[in-house]
Amino acid sequence: MTTHKKEFILVLEEVNKSFEGFKAISNLTLYMDEGELRVIIGPNGAGKSSMLDLITGRTKPDSGKIEFGKDTDLTKLNEARINQLGIGRKFQTPSVYTDHTVFENIWLSLHGSRSVWNSLFSRVTSERRDRIYEILKTIALDGKADWKAGALSHGQKQWLEIGMLLAQDPKLLLVDEPAAGMTDEETHKTGELLLSLEGKHSIIVIEHDMTFVRQIARKVTVLHQGTVLCEGSVDAVQNDDRVKEVYLGRKKKN
Ligand code: ADP
Ligand code: MG
Repeated sequence: MTTHKKEFILVLEEVNKSFEGFKAISNLTLYMDEGELRVIIGPNGAGKSSMLDLITGRTKPDSGKIEFGKDTDLTKLNEARINQLGIGRKFQTPSVYTDHTVFENIWLSLHGSRSVWNSLFSRVTSERRDRIYEILKTIALDGKADWKAGALSHGQKQWLEIGMLLAQDPKLLLVDEPAAGMTDEETHKTGELLLSLEGKHSIIVIEHDMTFVRQIARKVTVLHQGTVLCEGSVDAVQNDDRVKEVYLGRKKKN
């Protein structure tokens, strides 16, 4: 056992994953501090979403170490168990209960069981109500508590889903391309939301939009061909010759 583990919320060491001979993840090593907001960038197909699949147990690595907190070996656990440990994932497309109100969506998520039936027939205690409104404030939807989730804009649905994850009080929050399909204003608000979570949760944000990355980035990790190409401040990675080469001839948002 090495001593460095204690300081990290997440450790990936020499992780490999192939799909029918194609190496999606290749000797991937990454360390994340507790409370850190980490941005991951990289061209399409770089392995960003595959990395999240491995962390959340959706897929299993062929080799390598994936550890959460002090000593929890995530490669040995299934997806449900990993979620219970406090790892929440926001997929690219929002999945909210469109026929339920914004309030009910958060309420349903507060129940560990996620049982819609049990949730709907349990009483809303004042304590729970306060917690729901606290989350609604965080995601700037407190004024829309009674709206059907289906009536929200795309951006608002994304925030609601982040709120639903927050209701489970995750230690580590994984957010895959939250700004995709958002207006500039929604993108900026999403940045503010993520920044407000920094310190309270450890967060990995995968993103293409460099304006957005600039807004929220502390340490940026650049993935390329399933491995870390470079890591550092936004300026450092944007000025890195290897990064320039990888993005050369590509559209800026790619
Ligand atoms: P990114 O999110 O960086 O755009 P992905 O992680 O989605 O990239 O994909 C990396 C590569 O791995 C792609 O070539 C993709 O087709 C492949 N891949 C990812 N997941 C699977 C899977 N479950 N089965 C087969 N191939 C996959
Ligand atoms: Mg992806």
